[in-house]
Amino acid sequence: MYFYSVSRDALFGSVTLGVVFVAGYYIGKRRSTFSAMDLFKSHSGAKDNPIMQYVLDHSMREHPALKKLRMRTMEDSWSFIMVACEQSQLMANLARLIKTKKAIEIGVYTGYNTLSIALTLPDDGKIVACDIKEEYANIGKPFWEEAGMDHKIDLRIQPALKTLDDLLANGEAETYDFIFIDADKANYDNYYEKSLRLVRKGGIIAIDNVLWSGKVVNPAAHDVDSQAIDKLNKKLYRDVRINISMLTVGDGLTLAFKL
Ligand code: CA
Repeated sequence: MYFYSVSRDALFGSVTLGVVFVAGYYIGKRRSTFSAMDLFKSHSGAKDNPIMQYVLDHSMREHPALKKLRMRTMEDSWSFIMVACEQSQLMANLARLIKTKKAIEIGVYTGYNTLSIALTLPDDGKIVACDIKEEYANIGKPFWEEAGMDHKIDLRIQPALKTLDDLLANGEAETYDFIFIDADKANYDNYYEKSLRLVRKGGIIAIDNVLWSGKVVNPAAHDVDSQAIDKLNKKLYRDVRINISMLTVGDGLTLAFKL
């Protein structure tokens, strides 16, 4: 079976990733000016991490409204859950590369990534933005409007599984180009399976927090979120319906390319 024929290489890759991760963690500790968490949350940790600051200074090309929304989000006490801006830009570039016209975002928060993706869509494109709370999305809405992107954003405030079922019932299977999963971890597998039905062949499902601050390496017995993410990571590795890449950007990002 194909999976087993690559397992040695994959094992080496996993070990390498582990070594890099542990090395990065201890280098971070020794420098002591930034923590491992800061490494993964570069939007807020860059000021104490000159390498990350260099990356941002030499690659971030934020739309002015996007930058303002990021700065506004940083004022919120939950800002640490915002997607890393360089990760958001990577996903926007990927969405543009595959000529995304229809996208879904599962987990909106203040809508930074929602706007980032909307900016890549054609004028008649849309992003279905799923969340259970509108209060944080309300922070983003003025910036969506400032960028002239609000007509592309279809915000649905209800459980995302319900929204995904609604889209499937509406005959939209295999019509989406790009889907980002970044909501409650216990439901990650359910989000993934429904997303796989909604995305077209050649489309991309991006899954956030797949390293969960490193806790997936050895999930604690009581840590159901780490266990759920680790279980999905193992499943994706064996899933013949997709090609995958697992990146150490942000808090870990898996890109699943539908075959
Ligand atoms: Ca996240």
